[in-house]
Amino acid sequence: MAFRAIFFDLDETLYPIGNEAVEVLTNRMNLFIEESLSVPKEEVKKLREDLFYKYGTTAKGLVATYDTNLYEFLHYVHNIDLKSYIKPSQALKSMLDRIPLEKYILTNSDRFHATRVLKLLGILNCFDGIIDVLDVFPDCKPSPIAFERALSMTCIRDAADCIFLDDNPSNIATAYELGFYAVHVGKRGNPAKLSTSIDSIEDLPSLNLYQEKG
Ligand SMILES: [Mg+2]
Repeated sequence: MAFRAIFFDLDETLYPIGNEAVEVLTNRMNLFIEESLSVPKEEVKKLREDLFYKYGTTAKGLVATYDTNLYEFLHYVHNIDLKSYIKPSQALKSMLDRIPLEKYILTNSDRFHATRVLKLLGILNCFDGIIDVLDVFPDCKPSPIAFERALSMTCIRDAADCIFLDDNPSNIATAYELGFYAVHVGKRGNPAKLSTSIDSIEDLPSLNLYQEKG
């Protein structure tokens, strides 16, 4: 099977699960909820998790349920310095540079965050495009509509021409259903359906899904 394109989730797929950046971002979300909705501190975590599981992203849940201004939320959450948590990876860059396919980011975060993280990893120039949560709003992964929008944005008709990598099991299951070659990255949860799994992004070449560039 010759693939045409490869779609990567960003957070905890292109850098390891458990990176401190995620905790810092999550704390910012908690603070926003506590301050803007006047939710007692001890109830914030449960509210945020409920919104995340019901709507796919906390942002979408806040907009739908509390009429939160999406842009204010995203700006607030990402208004922190991630330099000390996310470092450049030459190995990751070399691995990406050897992939002879169109390469896209498909993320439930926004473009500002994605660009910043890719810059910190030293891999921003490796990609043909970034498809962010605003491009597919009001949908987001794991909604099939988000994947279909991503395909149409890249002028690819058939999901079977594409590889998709994500650490989130729900996203992997949807992508598989739609026909993507769906690769679960990391060990968080078990996707209901998947093509295969790898422990970390560095293991991608071992799947032999494409002929590496010389
Ligand atoms: Mg992720």
